Amino acid sequence: MSAGRTAAPAAGQWVFHDGDFVPAADVRLGPSLQALQYGTGVFEGIRAYATGSGDSHLYRAHDHFTRMIGSARLLRIAIDHDADQLVEISAELLRRNGHSGDAYLRPLAYKTALQPGVPFGVRLQGVSSTLTIVSLPMGRYTSRDGISCGISSWRRIPDSSLPARAKITGAYANNALATDEATAAGYDDAIFLNQAGHVAEASTANLFLVRAGQVATPAQDSDILEGITRDSVISLLRRRAGVEVERRTVLRSELYTADEIFLTGTGCEIVPVTALDGRPVGSGVPGPLTRTVMDAYDRSVRGRDPHDDHGWLTPVHTTPVLL
Ligand code: PMP
Repeated sequence: MSAGRTAAPAAGQWVFHDGDFVPAADVRLGPSLQALQYGTGVFEGIRAYATGSGDSHLYRAHDHFTRMIGSARLLRIAIDHDADQLVEISAELLRRNGHSGDAYLRPLAYKTALQPGVPFGVRLQGVSSTLTIVSLPMGRYTSRDGISCGISSWRRIPDSSLPARAKITGAYANNALATDEATAAGYDDAIFLNQAGHVAEASTANLFLVRAGQVATPAQDSDILEGITRDSVISLLRRRAGVEVERRTVLRSELYTADEIFLTGTGCEIVPVTALDGRPVGSGVPGPLTRTVMDAYDRSVRGRDPHDDHGWLTPVHTTPVLL
């Protein structure tokens, strides 16, 4: 579902790298990069939405950077900027790159090389780190009509091994295995169970289900990334539809008997799941609550909800700076 979306900036684009805005072509990373060898990087995916007037705004950028700073603390990656500064840097990057349409930002903070005198080895202390942010144009890439999913035979990595709560680059090999298995079997995406056999999340999205009028999503102790879109949906459903989402253990069997299932993520936004393991979900078309959520989320990200006082949007005035 999300494959192929990883940010590679086009030639002639700016990136923010190691404290400066530089042309993408000037960034050189060698094969001995520690993050490349051991997966010791953390990242985010942030969307910017066109406002229609030639400008755009970032969606929940502060929350993304707050999460990234938390992920970085886990791996002892030093980030020299706070969340406010990172939002400003991101807005400036979009401005420089002239991304006035829908766009995507990929911040990546990662371990680079052992500091002088530090002995060779897999370690977190005594290793330098850096931050790179790239941006690229990106519109909607998932189906609004529904996708098919398969339950993965790969289990989600447990919190006791490598916390899904942190967006750690190396951990995404787990997600890649699940996506690969699902697409090879003809599905659009995979749904992970955790070690206990309970529902965790999709390959790069959180999961919600509607069953007998109740809306539920796996709780934060189900080995999930605590998605920012998941949080938006919980809040939007409360405010717009008076629906309280249950955050709890979700059983696999509940998925097969659900009336509706949908996935949430920054990249994929809101995606109806209309088939699971070759069975239709509900009546096999996006259900009414899923449609309500899609509409509410669209309005929220595009700043078209007159009652929205969440403060989730950061305006960006996009005037390109020529290289
Ligand atoms: N779970 C995983 C494993 C993800 O990679 C993502 C995408 N970041 C999500 C859930 C959704 O998180 P968010 O809504 O914050 O993008």
